Amino acid sequence: MIRRLDGLFMQAYMTQPRKRLLTYLQNHADETLTAGQISEDLPEISVSAVYRNLSALEQDGTVRKVAKSGSREVFYQYMKAEECKDHLHLSCKKCGKTFHMDEAETEALLGSIAKLDGFTVDRSDTVLYGVCENCQREKNEEK
Ligand SMILES: [Zn+2]
Ligand SMILES: [Zn+2]
Repeated sequence: MIRRLDGLFMQAYMTQPRKRLLTYLQNHADETLTAGQISEDLPEISVSAVYRNLSALEQDGTVRKVAKSGSREVFYQYMKAEECKDHLHLSCKKCGKTFHMDEAETEALLGSIAKLDGFTVDRSDTVLYGVCENCQREKNEEK
């Protein structure tokens, strides 16, 4: 009886689709996915529930929206909230992948900005856009 009540209690806080979605995103942590791809992989969740839950997860910082150049689609990437709040992120405009900057590197960079400009950068909110090593290599090989 108590167990059953517990189950109901939990459900009020995290719905089944959200839990399912979260597990899925955690399993694809380093990938950028569109809502379409996600709902294709999770046919048991309705498309509208996928969108609804993604926007809720985006608001609490669990996922991040990523844009790729040359694509109008919105991609989502899972963020490890605890580990990710202390470093900067680099976002590749070509493949949409997010890279987690080393914490020491983050400190060095932000430290010098603070020193030279007297500006404190909000690291959890800052993303540097550019082209990743992989995509640069591909570009060079094309030439
Ligand atoms: Zn990170
Ligand atoms: Zn890339």
